Amino acid sequence: MLSPVSEQTKVVLTEADIPTHWYNIVADLPTPPAPPLHPATDQPLVPDDLIALFPMGLIEQEASAERWIPIPDEVREVYKLWRPSPMYRAYRLEKALGTPARIYYKYEGASPVGSHKANSSVPQAYFNKIAGRTRLTTETGAGQWGAALAFAAETFGLKCDIWQVRSSFEGKPYRHAQMEVFGAWSIGSPSETTEIGRKLREQFPDTSGSLGMAISEAVEAAVKDPNASYSLGSVLNHVLLHQTVIGQEALKQLEVFGEPKLDYLFACAGGGSNLGGISFPVIRENLEGRQNTTIVACEPKAAPSLTEGEFRYDFGDTAGMTPKLKMYTLGQNFVPDPVHAGGLRYHGMAPLVSHAYHEGLVKAISVRQREAFEAGVLFSRAEGIIPASESNHAIAGAIRQAKQAAEGEVILIGVSGSGLLDLPAYTEFLSGEMADS
Ligand SMILES: *Cc1c(COP(=O)(O)O)cnc(C)c1O
Repeated sequence: MLSPVSEQTKVVLTEADIPTHWYNIVADLPTPPAPPLHPATDQPLVPDDLIALFPMGLIEQEASAERWIPIPDEVREVYKLWRPSPMYRAYRLEKALGTPARIYYKYEGASPVGSHKANSSVPQAYFNKIAGRTRLTTETGAGQWGAALAFAAETFGLKCDIWQVRSSFEGKPYRHAQMEVFGAWSIGSPSETTEIGRKLREQFPDTSGSLGMAISEAVEAAVKDPNASYSLGSVLNHVLLHQTVIGQEALKQLEVFGEPKLDYLFACAGGGSNLGGISFPVIRENLEGRQNTTIVACEPKAAPSLTEGEFRYDFGDTAGMTPKLKMYTLGQNFVPDPVHAGGLRYHGMAPLVSHAYHEGLVKAISVRQREAFEAGVLFSRAEGIIPASESNHAIAGAIRQAKQAAEGEVILIGVSGSGLLDLPAYTEFLSGEMADS
């Protein structure tokens, strides 16, 4: 049934269209992903190994092979603040590029905190609340995850303590302010507040910090407090699961636009959560023969885990406190250049995204910082939305494709966040002073 392509500029859907379930790709993968291993024994993890870190509700999701996992009403209620997120047809960008492709983008920057991260922070806070935990600890890079968790913790009456990568803590003061407004405590990492932080500062006095180091600090703090849980904003199965609301809505919105076929999907990839969220429901369509979409993960040249890393077991953090995950990794000690897309500066990639990439279900490219910002500026001038530094990598990937597209090709971009707190990076780019890694 071919409905004509509509001339609508955006499709918003209604609150009744907010998905009722998260989609778990594990149920449909052609081969099972490798299990996480205990850091000390190298044996596959059992749920009890994680109880010091996470509430049981999230541990069950982490290990689940159920295809559809119900979204609690309390979480859908909060999702109503910004979901469904809008999808736009990028008419003006198409015109600026002179492309024969039809370009769409799904905009997660419309969430109150400015990124897709709230899709997972809200259920994480909820499952901790019902398990009786009273405090969340976490790391954050550029601060989007910190802000999202701070908001979610406040919503469910939990305390929230955040270790932020030092380079971002110092370079992005407004994000720190955002976390404070939501009632959270935060500090630059590595810090003096944990054993591992003090050790790292002694070892690397001038370090700009890394997500791996900040994770070690937040994990240590959670393990030492029986009322606390650790929260991670990406990488883990349950986080990618929560993000699948994006892709489910996107498929519905393409239908309303009258697009039965999606040729290309571009999303940026740091830990893999927005990519997994928008693409896993599309992979399901691919596997069932309803779509033949090429899915492209766009990573920064400065932290190219998929395109230049190794597929092996590695720790999620610097100190080796987390379980070992089978993933594409640059190594637990990798400290990327301090590029502006702080959310993409991670040494590894989500095991589920890594597995899908290894199986050929997802492709990957890397993009240098200046190409990403050039794309972001072009997009901003055409569409009026200034994308997050991270999202610019996806836009750059889509523009590469649009420039060589066939007539009528359909391209979807996942725009994971707003760049209004990244404006200093745009200023640096426009002044010609931005370095390429
Ligand atoms: C955190 C973040 C990313 C990178 O994380 P993923 O888990 O790869 O999605 C990308 N874009 C934005 C806006 C972010 O906040």
